[in-house]
Amino acid sequence: MNSEHAPRIGFVSLGCPKALVDSERILTQLRAEGYATVGDYANADLVVVNTCGFIDEAVEESLDAIGEALNENGKVIVTGCLGGRDDGQLVRARHPNVLAVTGPHAYAEVMHAVHQHLPPAHDPFVDLIPPPRENDVGVKLTPAHYAYLKISEGCNHRCSFCIIPQLRGDLVSRPIGDVMREAENLANAGVKELLVVSQDTSAYGLDLRYKLDFWGGRPVRTRFQELAAALGELGLWVRMHYVYPYPHVDDVIPLMAEGHILPYLDIPFQHANQRILKAMKRPASSENVLERLKSWRAMCPDIALRSTFIVGFPGETEDDFRELLDFLEEAQLDRVGCFKYSPVEGAPANDLPGAVPETLKQERWERFMEVQARISAAKLQSRVGQVMTVLVDEVDEEGAIARSPYDAPEIDGNVFLDGGTDLLPGDLVEVEIVEADEHDLWGEPA
Ligand code: SF4
Repeated sequence: MNSEHAPRIGFVSLGCPKALVDSERILTQLRAEGYATVGDYANADLVVVNTCGFIDEAVEESLDAIGEALNENGKVIVTGCLGGRDDGQLVRARHPNVLAVTGPHAYAEVMHAVHQHLPPAHDPFVDLIPPPRENDVGVKLTPAHYAYLKISEGCNHRCSFCIIPQLRGDLVSRPIGDVMREAENLANAGVKELLVVSQDTSAYGLDLRYKLDFWGGRPVRTRFQELAAALGELGLWVRMHYVYPYPHVDDVIPLMAEGHILPYLDIPFQHANQRILKAMKRPASSENVLERLKSWRAMCPDIALRSTFIVGFPGETEDDFRELLDFLEEAQLDRVGCFKYSPVEGAPANDLPGAVPETLKQERWERFMEVQARISAAKLQSRVGQVMTVLVDEVDEEGAIARSPYDAPEIDGNVFLDGGTDLLPGDLVEVEIVEADEHDLWGEPA
């Protein structure tokens, strides 16, 4: 096909890694059908906007992106989490001229809308190519050396501040054979690091009653522990996100200690006070978290723990907040994100009494960040002198920007390799850590 005549799509991808995976699937399908993607509105025949609908700020950002695409191009199809809110009414109320609105992971609906408004060109070459196999690597929006691996959709929990289950439904896990074939394809394509994502990675397979599936000619259960073990056989960096501190998570820690998967867990604790956790309806809220962390560290002293917290949740008192600060001091987490509670339209927590004033939320957020900055700085300082393998993400004229096994892309810190201009993204190099600040490390060839 002469690509000058291929129908051209502009694509705007907003939101979390799960939304990014949706964008990759839609782009892969578009490419397979002979659509070209272009990087500007003016040259696009139509624009698809994949939106985020999680917090109010994300809603506004998504609505603005739709407005911009409408102004600059005029033909816009909306998909993603915001599209799923109120059956698309929220989007249509602000932007009645959009061509179609679909919800999250609605690949077939998006393609249907695209076909309707911009039919694919008939092309004898492309039309003779069989449809892409489900597990082809497809279009990746991440750099070539790492990829998000989405293992399930939806969530069985009902955290009171969250509307994801309303948007994405209950947990639907992908059978483990499917996930592993995708992981293998990514490994064969040169990916060095897999980031396992879902809404609740520790619950993987629960909906399928841990169904037995097949991978590499042998039976494997669709379950978190088995998935971690199977991924560990691929010889890549495997990083686990969105895990809750359930007892069965203990079983994957030896895989970390033995170097099969990265010694890294991303566990969104959100708070430490039992009353607040109950009001949040958090999963595993009654587990003794500090004990669990202690036993994980005993099994794998090297483990890096990342978490996120919310301050200023309705009903949070000064004492509750201090309990959270005490928890931080005891837990000694490596990486921490903190959000001021922000009501999400449609979330049950909005009706809880005891709203915390904005100024107080801000004050608590600052106190929280101060404590954690001190902890993080000390943790990073203790890495000085260590020799470790790092993965190069970027190279510029000053040197290379890499990451350690203890840091995820985008959300954690970097390891700067000054002068490493001969390195390439995706290189794994052994370095000695020579310097640290509150957030990042500096290394030299070991
Ligand atoms: S675990 Fe809670 S916060 Fe996470 S997606 Fe499920 S309901 Fe939302």
